[in-house]
Amino acid sequence: MAESSASTDASRPLIGIGCDNDTDKREFSRVNADYYYAIYLAGGLPVLVPAIDDEAYCREAVRRLDGLLLPGGDDVHPSLYGQPLHPRTRLVTPRRQAADMALIRAALDADLPLMGICYAAQVINVALGGDMIQDIPDQVRTEIAHAKKWPDTAFHRIRIEPGTILHGIIGADEIETNSSHHQANLRVAPPLIISARADDGIIECVESTRHRFVLGIQWHPERLTDRPEQMRVFEGLVKAAAARH
Ligand code: MN
Repeated sequence: MAESSASTDASRPLIGIGCDNDTDKREFSRVNADYYYAIYLAGGLPVLVPAIDDEAYCREAVRRLDGLLLPGGDDVHPSLYGQPLHPRTRLVTPRRQAADMALIRAALDADLPLMGICYAAQVINVALGGDMIQDIPDQVRTEIAHAKKWPDTAFHRIRIEPGTILHGIIGADEIETNSSHHQANLRVAPPLIISARADDGIIECVESTRHRFVLGIQWHPERLTDRPEQMRVFEGLVKAAAARH
């Protein structure tokens, strides 16, 4: 097993990781191991937070955590940003959708360090009143493949806005990222700003100007933990959580 680069004493900040739930008759909570290993490798103590759509539960979870990572998933319900359902939009379960909205609202209210990946980067924006592109291939003219058919992975460059939290973490004006999304944030709601875009203008990262650490990442750094610049986003979350812890 890989060894964590960070200290292994009892000072690991507690990082909650949101879960998906299956839609079978019997419900299972699940999360891809890449997410919790990334938090572990960054020096955090990962704990899974199952998707229970109860606001009081979500608020209590946030009170007890030092940081929160919400993983990718299927698509946000477009009714949450006032659009009809596009035929290519595939929804997360109503329970996960409600739990993620409640967790995000609670985390923002408490100024808990929060990172959302892919779908969750979009939910953060939607929770604040932003909206989205429901299907990039159908709605945007672009040469860039933001998704390929599994198991192929798309890669593209992103340009990072100087002066942003993301720029401070990564320490570069541009990096290569993987890309596995057919939707993207469109209008970004304050206090969020755009901290990175692909060369075709598609939004690849948003962050809050009013919270100590809120980052919405459109790509999948958890699949690229062998790249130091990608690990830095998890180390950034853990560091922000440790400062609170
Ligand atoms: Mn992309």
